[in-house]
Amino acid sequence: MIDTETPIAIIGGGIGGLVAGIALQKAGFSPHIYERASKFDEVGAGISMSPNATLGLEALGFGDYLTAHANEPLEQRLYHGETGELLQAIDRRNCRDTYHAAYYQLHRADLLNMLIDKFGLANCTMDKSLTSIESADTGARLNFEDGTTVQTAVVIAADGLRSIVRDQLFDNSPPEFSGHVAWRALVPAEKLGPLSVERWNINHLGKGRNIVSYPVRGEALVNIVALTKADQWAEESWNAKASKEELAQHYQGWADYVGQLIDALPADQLYRWGLFIRKPLDKWVNGRTALLGDAAHPMLPYMGQGASSAIEDGVILGRAFAAADTIDTALKIYADTRRERASLLQSESNLGGERLQAINPDAFRDTPIKNEDALGIFAYDPVTVALAI
Ligand SMILES: Cc1cc2nc3c(=O)[nH]c(=O)nc-3n(C[C@H](O)[C@H](O)[C@H](O)COP(=O)(O)OP(=O)(O)OC[C@H]3O[C@@H](n4cnc5c(N)ncnc54)[C@H](O)[C@@H]3O)c2cc1C
Repeated sequence: MIDTETPIAIIGGGIGGLVAGIALQKAGFSPHIYERASKFDEVGAGISMSPNATLGLEALGFGDYLTAHANEPLEQRLYHGETGELLQAIDRRNCRDTYHAAYYQLHRADLLNMLIDKFGLANCTMDKSLTSIESADTGARLNFEDGTTVQTAVVIAADGLRSIVRDQLFDNSPPEFSGHVAWRALVPAEKLGPLSVERWNINHLGKGRNIVSYPVRGEALVNIVALTKADQWAEESWNAKASKEELAQHYQGWADYVGQLIDALPADQLYRWGLFIRKPLDKWVNGRTALLGDAAHPMLPYMGQGASSAIEDGVILGRAFAAADTIDTALKIYADTRRERASLLQSESNLGGERLQAINPDAFRDTPIKNEDALGIFAYDPVTVALAI
């Protein structure tokens, strides 16, 4: 057994870092999170949790919270962007029977609050930005922007797509612009027609773009994610406020419902993200430091698997620390169990944009979409999957 007093530092208090922390607590450890931001904050947007993630969250004790704060879409509906014709309705009522867990949609802030409440603010240091890391066989030294250092036995680097730990210890090639751009906002449901508040996940498709909407917070808000293409991402900031007029230009001539969504967008709360990718890594562990979540395997959001896979990582990390006799073995079990699965999610998610946007949407009328459950992605259970021991 690993000594449960072993100091474990987690860099980054996003979904990945918090779930890893909670899973390690469940295994008896007392990890500490170092977070760059001065307070926990999530973008005003929704998030979907597919059954593979829900299974992990339920095992960490969040079943009741999710039932109370998330909704389960009845169907994922694909519409022709221009004509508004319903092309396919993918049944999501069957997730509990097929995968033994729900497919959920919820507000990101609700998910984050749920995780922080469980992990405990007392176990987090905010305003703590890592600037460099020195890795050794016995641990690592963390150097922070405020001039302080922390010596620790284990580092879990959950510091996101632009991970400093990844740059310094694993791969210093910069993230590449994928050519995809995401626009996100929440709209009060009262500003929209009845279609929007149905418990469907609605996706309007066209060549080179699509736009997704689904309700969160009961039926009070509708989450909108629009995905478009761009040749380059020149803005200095990788996310920026955007105008709805600009967004509307991408969807001119589209179905009435899409026009309604864009009209209803709050003028000052539409954000635009250039989506960046990094290549799959062969190595996730350097000495006593391991990568997790987007730091290890960032992916485009076309399958809604980025946070879900970070949750899988966290659950497996906790199981590995509970099962192993030494820290080195625990980190090896974690990485060996996760790498292949995460690389699959990464490559399929990155192809998802081409599948949804590259062809004429008419093709979806007769051809079943190669989506997440057709690819078997939902069938993974991080709680019971065999560890690579
Ligand atoms: C448009 C869009 C829609 C998406 N929809 C979904 C979805 O429906 N379902 C889904 O599963 N996924 C979705 N995702 C993906 C998901 O948001 C990410 O994969 C997930 O949030 C990654 O979590 P993380 O904890 O690994 O990284 P992050 O959320 O990036 O967290 C990293 C944390 O580390 C902190 N940090 C960074 N650097 C430092 C440092 N040097 N020192 C200290 N702290 C640091 C940051 O402040 C941050 O809090 C979507 C993504 C996009 C862009």
